Amino acid sequence: MAKNITDRKDDYSQWYLDVVREAKLADHSPVRGSMIIRPNGFALWENMKKALDQMFKDTGHENAYFPLFIPKSFLSKEAQHVEGFAKECAVVTHSRLKSVDGGVEVDPDSRLEEELIVRPTSETIIWDAYGKWIQSYRDLPILINQWANVVRWEMRTRLFLRTMEFLWQEGHTAHATEEEAVEETTRMLGVYKTFAEEFMAMPVKTGVKTANERFAGAVDTYCIEALMQDGKALQAGTSHFLGQNFAKAFDVKFQDQDGEHKYVWATSWGVSTRLIGGLIMTHSDDNGLVLPPKLAPHQVVVVPIYRDNEQRENVLNYAEPIIQELKAKGISVKLDNRDNFKPGWKFAQHEAEGTPLRIAIGPRDVENQNLELARRDTLEKSIVPLAGITDYIEELLETIQNDLFNTAKKRMDESTRNVDTYEDFKNEIEKGGFIYAHWDGTAETEEKIKEETKATIRLIPIDEDPVPGECMVTGKPSERRVLFARSY
Ligand code: AMP
Repeated sequence: MAKNITDRKDDYSQWYLDVVREAKLADHSPVRGSMIIRPNGFALWENMKKALDQMFKDTGHENAYFPLFIPKSFLSKEAQHVEGFAKECAVVTHSRLKSVDGGVEVDPDSRLEEELIVRPTSETIIWDAYGKWIQSYRDLPILINQWANVVRWEMRTRLFLRTMEFLWQEGHTAHATEEEAVEETTRMLGVYKTFAEEFMAMPVKTGVKTANERFAGAVDTYCIEALMQDGKALQAGTSHFLGQNFAKAFDVKFQDQDGEHKYVWATSWGVSTRLIGGLIMTHSDDNGLVLPPKLAPHQVVVVPIYRDNEQRENVLNYAEPIIQELKAKGISVKLDNRDNFKPGWKFAQHEAEGTPLRIAIGPRDVENQNLELARRDTLEKSIVPLAGITDYIEELLETIQNDLFNTAKKRMDESTRNVDTYEDFKNEIEKGGFIYAHWDGTAETEEKIKEETKATIRLIPIDEDPVPGECMVTGKPSERRVLFARSY
């Protein structure tokens, strides 16, 4: 069978596109930067959504929905916010088309009085609503999440990782105190870390962004950063402490227990379909997608092997109770009994699509009361007895989940190191990976490093005790090492 996937070592970007195509995750759409998410890709997103949604509800949040269109005037109410998003906003200016010879054009008579922004994020429209909902301390906290699409007019796009329209969730919370809002920000960062590591099997570093990389309108942006197989970092999720910026912009005050009127404290946090890109680039190989069992649309695929109708019936009869037992254990199984494809072709397809475990059953397996198992992650095959098979598979899926995490963690740890001089940094950054180095805390030095090496500060660590040193570029005092990488 011809190999349709470029090897990673030959062309990593092409490999990524090939995997997305062969795993049938997404297609480019006729509009530059927009993507069609195919059923395999959407099933992954649905599984991510399901797990995250439960985690949000377990931490006290409710879902709601706010409109796609935002009055243009709203965006300008928070100065930094508008500055950050102005350059990438889609603006609706007209409401009608009219027919002209052989086509349509925008009807100039339908110009909107107030132009509308297609939401790039929903702080403004949500804080306008919160202004109406919040009067007293009794109305707080508000803990709301929404699942939605947003549009950012991105120039350099890449399937899943950076698209013009993307699917995401955005949490927007309102609190009476700063302390509570900061606690919420870090709690949701923790939720993202747990989700990335326990469901996606993707280890992440956590910390806070520099002022330069901060969300427009935030006081602090916390993030999870993952390391892709090619040594580049991916910002995989953000949690923002917004201070009172949006409350002030939208004049949202509450009367506190002491009778005083105070501005409300805010957070927002989001992850997007970018996570699917992260998942692909963390685990997949030159044969295609590799999926962690906890998120795979199907954890197990059963491929029957037969030559004639009698064999077909025997094999399928043998497979049926296995499938039922696996389903009863909550394991998702797909039986691929299509007659118009050969087993070898099916093997290659399920491999490309990343199904964690493949069971092949032929007449000889029926005779010997066993079956053939193939792990997608290691490509190992083994013959396993029928007795106790469902327990065995349940454990094996857990093993695969853990092995994927451990492999990715080992890779991240091995490509994370400390560097002390700028000379070494310039050499080391070429090799990819995460580098901890000292920085003087200024935007100028950060910019210089970015210009000269294409590396950015991914985050300032928050959980370890800071060890001071000297900036690798200027020799000025540095409070602590910060994490550098080249990134997507
Ligand atoms: P932000 O609102 O900028 O903090 O972004 C929230 C989340 O959306 C982050 O996890 C980003 O990684 C992700 N994200 C931002 N821009 C894009 C994009 N163009 N395509 C896909 N995901 C994005």
